[in-house]
Amino acid sequence: MSERRKFIKKSLLGSALLVPGVSNAFVGRQTNQLIGEKPLILSTWNHGLPANAAAISKLKETGSILDAMETGVKDTELDLSNLSVGLQGLPDREGITTLDASIMTGDGSCGSVAFVRQVKHPISLARAVMEKTPHVMLAGEGARQFAIAEGFPIEKEELSPKAKEAYEKWKVTSQYKPVINIENHDTIGMIGMDKDGNLAGSCTTSGLAYKMHGRVGDSPIIGAGLYVDNEVGAATATGLGESIIRICGSFLIVELMRQGRTPQEACEEAVRRLISKNKNIKDIQAGFLAMNKEGQIGAFAVHPGFNFAQGTLNSNVMVDSKSHF
Ligand code: ASP
Repeated sequence: MSERRKFIKKSLLGSALLVPGVSNAFVGRQTNQLIGEKPLILSTWNHGLPANAAAISKLKETGSILDAMETGVKDTELDLSNLSVGLQGLPDREGITTLDASIMTGDGSCGSVAFVRQVKHPISLARAVMEKTPHVMLAGEGARQFAIAEGFPIEKEELSPKAKEAYEKWKVTSQYKPVINIENHDTIGMIGMDKDGNLAGSCTTSGLAYKMHGRVGDSPIIGAGLYVDNEVGAATATGLGESIIRICGSFLIVELMRQGRTPQEACEEAVRRLISKNKNIKDIQAGFLAMNKEGQIGAFAVHPGFNFAQGTLNSNVMVDSKSHF
């Protein structure tokens, strides 16, 4: 077993948030899979394992796949060790942390927030946009004002000690160069299906470290970072947002599944499309995760290194995605 795997296994199995009574394991490399079990929850990267566990617990409690999608990623938004989700995430080049999030259900309801500051749970704010406004997306100061009006606590604007240290180091050269795989530190995208086949999804991030002030990635853009349709399936994305927006990645995958592709085939086609529409592909990492109504799953990335958590009522496991290169 590689050092990385040993580390993942140790850190994940040691997590306090895993589902009690559920087998939590590292299953290794992905094969084309028909899970066929409902409920089914998938989420991106290592932090997906405790997030899935939180989602499964919530689903058991309320039976709502939407509640599960919100609760699952809230867990990651609070994870102080995570430098790319939540207010502890790395800041933009002005030293300010801004957050993006989206949420969607299979009937087409959706909400998102972009470029929002000082809100600990942007995913809950996105849900409030969906449920309490006539709009789909609120951005920047307007999103913050809406948070205040809805009684969300407004946090002090200061970097976490880890983010501050990293930012101070970055300022020495101020070079903008995204690192293509930062394991354990990336957007969380989560998609899920309840026992009756109803789908929902959520996605939340602090976006790219040291981005230009005002930059918004794919995560809050419905169809780019997340798309869900009860007739077909669901997809979510992680990685360089600009490359994902260019191909409407998550919508593309759902539409390919609608035309008969399996989730795996659809994710692979989306990666091919992304590669054809983006220059300097050796510096770009992006990964997609999808499921269809039958409980088949797919995952594919541009480069190796992408992994995801796969959860059912009885198991919650980490799986390595395949990749184009
Ligand atoms: N997709 C996110 C963004 O571009 C970042 C990530 O997934 O790492 O904002």
